[in-house]
Amino acid sequence: MQVLKFGGSSVAHSDSIKRICYLLKKKPKGKYAIVVSALGNITDLLIQCGILAAERKNQYKHILEDIEIRHLNIIRELFPITYQSHLISWMKKNINDLENLCDGIFQVEELSKRSLDKIMSFGELSSSFIISEKFKQYGLDAICKDSRDLIITDSQFGCAQVDFITSNHHIIQFFREKISEYVVLPGFIGSTVDNETTTLGRGGSDYTASILASAISASLLEIWTDVSGMMTANPNIVNQAFPIKEISYEEAMELSHFGAKVIYPPTIQPAMKRHIPIQIKNTFSPSDPGTLIYISKKTNISQPVTGISGIQNMSLLTLEGSGMIGIPGYSKRLFEALSREKINVIFITQSSSEHSITTGIHEMDVIKAKSVIDTEFSQEIYQRRIDPLKIEKDLCIIAVVGDNMKNLHGTSGKMFSSLGRNSINVRAIAQGSTEKNISAVIKKTDLKKALNTLHESFFESPPKQINLFICGVGKVGRKLLEQLHQQQSYLFKELKLQVRVIGIANSKKMYFNNHGINLIQWDQFLNENGGEMNIYSFMKKVWKFNLRNSLFVDNTASEEMAMTYDKFLKNGIGVITCNKIACSSDYDHYKKLKILSRHFKAPFLFETNVGASLPVISTLNDLINSGDKIHKIEAVLSGSLNFIFNRFTKKTSFLEVVKEAQEKGYTEPDPRIDLSGLDVMRKILILARECGSPLELKDIQKKYFLPKKCYDSNSVENFYQELKNYSNYFFSIRSEAEKNKKRLRFIARYEKGRAFVGLESIDQNHPFFQLEGKDNMVLYNTYRYAEQPLIIKGAGAGAEVTASGVFSDIIKATK
Ligand code: ASP
Repeated sequence: MQVLKFGGSSVAHSDSIKRICYLLKKKPKGKYAIVVSALGNITDLLIQCGILAAERKNQYKHILEDIEIRHLNIIRELFPITYQSHLISWMKKNINDLENLCDGIFQVEELSKRSLDKIMSFGELSSSFIISEKFKQYGLDAICKDSRDLIITDSQFGCAQVDFITSNHHIIQFFREKISEYVVLPGFIGSTVDNETTTLGRGGSDYTASILASAISASLLEIWTDVSGMMTANPNIVNQAFPIKEISYEEAMELSHFGAKVIYPPTIQPAMKRHIPIQIKNTFSPSDPGTLIYISKKTNISQPVTGISGIQNMSLLTLEGSGMIGIPGYSKRLFEALSREKINVIFITQSSSEHSITTGIHEMDVIKAKSVIDTEFSQEIYQRRIDPLKIEKDLCIIAVVGDNMKNLHGTSGKMFSSLGRNSINVRAIAQGSTEKNISAVIKKTDLKKALNTLHESFFESPPKQINLFICGVGKVGRKLLEQLHQQQSYLFKELKLQVRVIGIANSKKMYFNNHGINLIQWDQFLNENGGEMNIYSFMKKVWKFNLRNSLFVDNTASEEMAMTYDKFLKNGIGVITCNKIACSSDYDHYKKLKILSRHFKAPFLFETNVGASLPVISTLNDLINSGDKIHKIEAVLSGSLNFIFNRFTKKTSFLEVVKEAQEKGYTEPDPRIDLSGLDVMRKILILARECGSPLELKDIQKKYFLPKKCYDSNSVENFYQELKNYSNYFFSIRSEAEKNKKRLRFIARYEKGRAFVGLESIDQNHPFFQLEGKDNMVLYNTYRYAEQPLIIKGAGAGAEVTASGVFSDIIKATK
């Protein structure tokens, strides 16, 4: 014999009830007990009715009407006219009884749990009657049996305890005598020995089915619902969650306790006792395999975790004080006090020093708990042996569940390192000694990120999702978005990275999309739908998204932007930047960012600060990390200045060349930064700092080549005017170098802890002599590269290469 249970959504409409008939017809011949819930949502309406009546609100009558209409409509839709009249009169009679009950409640203005159970029983009694009649009319050999005759409980109305001995006896007796193929029974309800109606707790129809299955030693218990089984995580929070094929009873209990709502937790116990397999199936997709809950399953050692779950709206209570150490009875009194108030304890940890006990309870019970515990321990609190109860709110619990965790080391390590990497602070931890469950208490606002992070760690073979927030979509930013778009499918296929741009901003507007911004039409979205840009609102948005594997990308040259990196890093968000300001600001600030990056395990990468995408900084780091000693760095670090001095001929004026460099995007947006040598100073400063020298910008020696008036010009326009005025001066510098068969190069040097920048005339034997176009060149003279320097050479400026350097930093940060 098999027991099948159909939940509220499976019987909500006439179509779904017809679907059940069809489903049963396809089953092999045999005996079936069919347990049904009330039509979807009816129990909620019934409760509402009772409450409103007790509050003397006439609206309860409207709800009664709605309930009546829903049932009558279903009858009309399910049955031919000739069949309807006796069903309708049965229903009317029942509605009348319900109405009388509610009227009585209205008069006495009191809703007892006993009356509420009676009201709620209407839902299952009606649905089971209608469904059994439909089965008969469909040609199935069916009868309806009132479960109250079989399931006997105590009189704890609202959540009655089953008297298994008496109930099993009744059930066995009934099914032994019954010959019909299908017996339809209302779930959720039972009765006391005095024939008073009780209920088994919300969602209790599953439990009814399990009690029946266990009593008659059914071969299978099928729970038909509206999802395709127990899922690896809540699919409303974790998109990638998928149904679990097989799961042990214990795992299912843990998961359902921790918020997986597919099955009412007490259901598992009776079936488990008799080793009856429970199959969860989807009424709306019956061919899906669903989930089989059974004894112990496969020992797939490589998959220690079966599911991840979470309970929202939690609070932690901590009882703490030196007076507790070594004295028995504190925990007993704590839990007794909570239990007297019927406060459910979800989570417990105790420090091994016995100095504190922490319990997790639902937020709604906090006020009650605080008062009852402080009263219980008032004496000790007064004597200062313990502190008043400490409360922390706005928390939730996450739990990873799996029988195999005990067979494999490192599960908790993996769990907490994934959480840590994503800056999810763990407030408390509990692990049962059976090692089937590891639970952690975290901030409520981190729930989504935590569940997704854990799901990614334990269930998802890559792709790993990377979430980018990009500020600056000018020349470099635009190219970066173009390159990201072009490479998206390559990254997905080859590197298993799903790179999404969640936020973009220019100096005026910012735009976000939780699902990833369309990288073809991003500028349209930014301009048309973007909100006003302000870096603090931008940051707030990033915090609010709270996405795992988030990176902040700065393509601006803004100082304000550079001063926000610490905040991103402190939130565990990696920073990728081509903006040199942060690394060339105060040494302490640079150092602080490096420390924050290490501390919060958030990458801080700025390869493009020197030589665009040339591997200047990473090579330097590799040399130092592998134990080489840097003797000297000599470099042409300004692509724009090199371009300018290479293009500057007798025929073209200095001004014309500078303008050309700016138009081509080789200079900073403000060309004075390049021409003044400031840009090169910043670069050599960054290299010096990477070598370990705590230099400041003011410590760098410089040899000016621009006349003072050019430096002092207060706008780009004036600056250009001054360059024009000094045309002859620039020609003269050039001719002087040419006369000596030399070339002009703006160079940077770092040696023995000191740095220098300036214009020099370079002779033919030097590697810089032949340096073409806008190329950069860096020579590392080191202990290992003593005879010949290690040379890095290539394009050191331009939007395309800078963007590609930022891109490769993004990829590095994902590793
Ligand atoms: N109808 C009841 C409820 O909604 C019992 C059930 O459907 O399992 O809680």
